[in-house]
This record gives sequence, C-alpha cells and structure tokens, in this order.
Amino acid sequence: MSTPNISEELKKLVELQKMDRQIFELNRKQAEVPVLLEALQKEFEDKKTTYKSLEESKQKMQLRQKEKEGELAAKEEGIKKSQGQLGQLKTNKEYQTKLAEIESLKADKSIIEEEILKLMDEIEQAKSSVENEKKALGGEEKIYNDKKRVIEEQSKEMQAALQALEGRRKIASADVDKKILQMYEHILHGRGGVALVSVINNSCEGCHMRVPHQVIHEIKMYHHLITCESCARILYLEEDVQP
Ligand SMILES: [Zn+2]
Repeated sequence: MSTPNISEELKKLVELQKMDRQIFELNRKQAEVPVLLEALQKEFEDKKTTYKSLEESKQKMQLRQKEKEGELAAKEEGIKKSQGQLGQLKTNKEYQTKLAEIESLKADKSIIEEEILKLMDEIEQAKSSVENEKKALGGEEKIYNDKKRVIEEQSKEMQAALQALEGRRKIASADVDKKILQMYEHILHGRGGVALVSVINNSCEGCHMRVPHQVIHEIKMYHHLITCESCARILYLEEDVQP
C-alpha cells in the first residue's frame, strides 16, 4: 500500500467537508420537521377546544330548558288537579287552603316561565357564539393546512437535496484514502458534522483555540494529518489547498 499524499488527500477532504456540512445541516432541519408539525397541530387543536366548550355549554343550557319545561308541565298539571278538587271540598277552610295552594303553584309556575325565557335568551346568544367560533375555526383550519403544506413541501425539497448530495458524496469519498476517510468520518460524527477545519490567524476554526507555531509547522510538512489539540478536528491551511 502506497503512502497517501497528505496534501492531495486534504484537498479531497475539503470538498467532502463542504458536502458534509450541508448534509448535517439538512438532516438537522429534517429532524425538526415532525416537531414543527406537532406544534402546529397542537396550536390548531387548542383553538378547537374553545369551539367545543362553547358547543357543550349551549347543549347544557338546552338540556336545562327541557328540564324546566318538564317542571312547568308538572306545575300546570298540579294547578289543574287542584282546581278540579275545589268543587268537592266541604268546608270553607278547606276551600281557602286549596285556593292558597293553587296560588302558590301559580307563583312557582311564573318563576319557572321566567327562568325558561331567560334560558332561551342565553341559548340564542350561545348559538350565535358557536356560529362565530365555527366560522373563525374554518379560517384557522385553512391557515393550519396551508402552514402544514409549506412545511411538508420544504421537507420534500430537503429530502431531494439530501439524496443528490449523498450521491455526490459517495463518488467523492470513494476517491479518498480509506484510512484517512475512516479517521475523518469518525471525527465527523463525533463533532457534529465538522471534522476538518482551517487555521485562521493562528486559531482553530472549529474551537477558536490558539494553534501553536510548531503545530502549523507540522501541518506544512504534510507527513501525516494533524489534529487540533483542543477539539481533535483535522487542521488544514487554506492557502495550501487552493486548486
Ligand atoms: Zn480546535
């Protein structure tokens, strides 16, 4: 096995790293897609909750109206029954008592009637609130679907870009010395998609720590790959990889 030409290998790695930065960035964005979609859905579900609670409260009032109408019918029945009994009473005292009973039933009846009227008003208001909320929700649903579609389309575009990049990467990486590629990829996955960094103003581009002159000298020798003492990424000099 021949010794790789380090300078040439570095030039290949620079190209590979350009692609890998994009690949890592696209993968990071793709991983966010389900989180974004879930948040969007939750936001819409929360808006549905307002509509549901308004609808429920309207139904409760309608149920209460039915109950009150039942009570009203019972009172009317009671009044009719007591009025029918009036003719069969023997004493004036019994008669007066029955009349008082009828009056009391009538008073109860008129209270229930007022309650029913009040409920009917409230139900009318509730119905209009439910209608308004339903319309608003229709608008929200459209916004939700539009936003969802945008995210899904972007995700598809990213997927296509990723596939293209990965195809190009496969070809480019086949040309790199196997051991160097292995080392590069090991660092790449351990260091968030950045394995190769340049030395800028005597500092590591990856971690910004100072790179000693001796290390820069070693890079320039091109005997083997030199890594940063702080972040362990492979170092290169921009001016030495110009085509
Ligand atoms: Zn570093």
